[in-house]
Amino acid sequence: MNTKIMDKIRKVEPYVPGEQPQNKVIKLNTNENPYPPAPGVKRALRETDADRLRLYPDPSADKLVSALAEYYGVGKDQIFAGVGSDDVLAMCFLTFFHSPKPVLFPDITYSFYKVWAELYRIPYECPKLDQAFRIVKEDYYRENGGVIFPNPNAPTAVYEELDFVEDILAHNPDVVVIVDEAYVDFAGKSALELIDRYENLIVVQTFSKSRSMAGMRIGYAVSNPALIQYLNDVKYSFNSYTMNQISVACGAEAVKDREYFEKTVKTIVETREWAKGELKKLGFCFTDSKTNFIFAKHPEYDAGELFSYLKKKDIYVRHWDSERIRQYLRITIGTREEMEQLFFALRAYLHNAR
Ligand code: PMP
Repeated sequence: MNTKIMDKIRKVEPYVPGEQPQNKVIKLNTNENPYPPAPGVKRALRETDADRLRLYPDPSADKLVSALAEYYGVGKDQIFAGVGSDDVLAMCFLTFFHSPKPVLFPDITYSFYKVWAELYRIPYECPKLDQAFRIVKEDYYRENGGVIFPNPNAPTAVYEELDFVEDILAHNPDVVVIVDEAYVDFAGKSALELIDRYENLIVVQTFSKSRSMAGMRIGYAVSNPALIQYLNDVKYSFNSYTMNQISVACGAEAVKDREYFEKTVKTIVETREWAKGELKKLGFCFTDSKTNFIFAKHPEYDAGELFSYLKKKDIYVRHWDSERIRQYLRITIGTREEMEQLFFALRAYLHNAR
């Protein structure tokens, strides 16, 4: 390619998503929910009128935004909906991280943050997690262009209590702090309750995990009306019709069914706690997961080899060949039966390797 053309191209190293094999496997690699979405979602899909697809969708996704506003007891002007939280987070980076000072996020965290920062040419620095994979909050008490971290963090699965989040917010009154709560429903309290007290706070959540709708692509941000307005201004300068009609209708149905949501989350948390016990029996070490996955390593066996072995058995987990975490596997919590099959395979591996 002509180098003069090359010089003018925005080059990026893209995010690498987890594999989505199309054959039937035990899929514990992308933190999806093993249970189907709420029954109302299926009903909404059945009732979809294909003739209406000739029309553009409602650009404000009002049905979905209203359902979320009612669920959380906030104003509709406090909610921003997007195509998965990836879309919402990408819009947040573009809107709120606009400073020559570095944005701060942990060295081990959701790897998309670095990609967006690079894509938008946002300077960033990555304070190191401590030995126990905990965020060192004091690292965020310095001048910066904004802060983002997931709580619970991923892929470490570590959750920090709200007073910890509040300390970071209180030390950063002059920048926007984004708390990515993709996994909070499996953990504890959400930072949503801090929104009235901290004008710099944006909370981002998703329908992909606890609401079993990764395939529908729905995420949202909750904040004060002023920040949500800035976010909408950027969105409408980019693509007004992000949310399609079907996502809006199905998303609204999912939010209304609190009972189903609570039941499936409870089942996953129970399976997770049982799985921790099983992993321990096999000699694995892991952080005290508060998510729908466990981040584990075995002191005697190489994680890369274990990953390949499981894959050959059609059990997909996630492994990164990167500094500090290459001996870890991230294992999504599936159904009890899927986890039994994982443990069966792990036991066979450990037995034969001895
Ligand atoms: N944040 C974190 C921490 C995640 O792990 C994920 C899932 N890959 C996302 C955001 C994005 O999820 P989605 O776009 O499906 O809402």
